[in-house]
Amino acid sequence: MARIVIAGAGAVGASIAYHLALLGADDVVLAERDTIASGATGKAMGGFRQQFSSEAEVRLAQESAKLFHELGSPLFAAVGYMFLATSGDGWERLRARAEMQRRLGVPVEEVDPERVRGLRTDDLLGAVACWEDGVAEPAAVTTELVRRGVELGVEVREHTNALAVSRDVLVVACGAASTELVPELPIRPLCRQLVDVGPVADLPDELPMTIEDETTFHFRRRGDTLRLAMTEPKARWTSEEVVDDSLVEDWRRRLAHRYPPAADAPVLRAWAGLYDMTPDAHPLIGWSGEGAYVACGFSGHGFMQSPAVGSAVAHELLELDPPVDLAPYRLERFADGAVFPEQVVL
Ligand SMILES: Cc1cc2nc3c(=O)[nH]c(=O)nc-3n(C[C@H](O)[C@H](O)[C@H](O)COP(=O)(O)OP(=O)(O)OC[C@H]3O[C@@H](n4cnc5c(N)ncnc54)[C@H](O)[C@@H]3O)c2cc1C
Repeated sequence: MARIVIAGAGAVGASIAYHLALLGADDVVLAERDTIASGATGKAMGGFRQQFSSEAEVRLAQESAKLFHELGSPLFAAVGYMFLATSGDGWERLRARAEMQRRLGVPVEEVDPERVRGLRTDDLLGAVACWEDGVAEPAAVTTELVRRGVELGVEVREHTNALAVSRDVLVVACGAASTELVPELPIRPLCRQLVDVGPVADLPDELPMTIEDETTFHFRRRGDTLRLAMTEPKARWTSEEVVDDSLVEDWRRRLAHRYPPAADAPVLRAWAGLYDMTPDAHPLIGWSGEGAYVACGFSGHGFMQSPAVGSAVAHELLELDPPVDLAPYRLERFADGAVFPEQVVL
């Protein structure tokens, strides 16, 4: 069998390696120039949701849900994702999106946000939630998939540039660094940041990932701390990973409004990482040339999509039918001028 070398041991590369081994590939090398999960994966929020706004994305998420639920605690907790609407338009949008998601089989329901103890609700017009969604530990999930892959025969080489490893097929799963290997890929690095605050006393165990749909401000629980994020008012198109302190203060004010019990919680840590953005915020998956396959450009939701993508890519590399349709993600869509809409980019 051909030797497949995967460049990058983030969530995507690890999942591809694991699924290749599961399907019986016997010569797989996972080459990582740094250490496992040292890229965007180790800096991610850890959210997993099926509540996307396009059918292809929902299908990917439904397929990914199987692995997250199999992994379970402590790697994944199905605490739900709850979207809040503070305007009439927002509420209409949430309801329309939920209807589409339900049609595809995602159990999204209208909920009373007062069920979340401590949450400010007097300015809300409604909320929807899917309790199968939840939060995970991206680095730990990735390490677990690598461990499983190794058990099935995958060779892992950390501190190794994949280009230096002999191979028949190179799979580029290098996130924002993918253009170093395939310069023509339409990927731009976007700097994004996260903030942990705490400790916060008496956080409810079942606190869902909570998202204001209009502002995109969102937070999740992690032990006795809260992790905060939001789409930034001005996109930072740079590969420099820098924390903007003015955003940290803005998010703390937003948290004090939405979740008053955390109003005085001090900042524990703030850090930045890179989204690997494509023009339509959808990934690039498929052959890019002779012996070269790409799986990158995940535009801020690659961790949650990595189980389904890893499985589908492994099937395709072994010339088997993938369980999900990868057609929407081919590189050629940009040559054709195709636009593939996706409104929810967190
Ligand atoms: C602040 C932030 C929050 C996020 N929150 C979420 C979230 O809640 N949910 C979600 O689904 N996604 C989230 N994401 C996005 C998610 O982190 C990424 O989409 C996902 O981790 C991408 O995984 P990856 O394996 O493609 O890339 P990466 O994790 O970046 O891994 C690529 C790896 O390739 C390695 N590499 C590069 N060049 C080479 C080479 N030549 N040879 C060998 N190795 C090489 C790098 O060292 C790196 O380890 C977030 C991202 C950020 C920055």
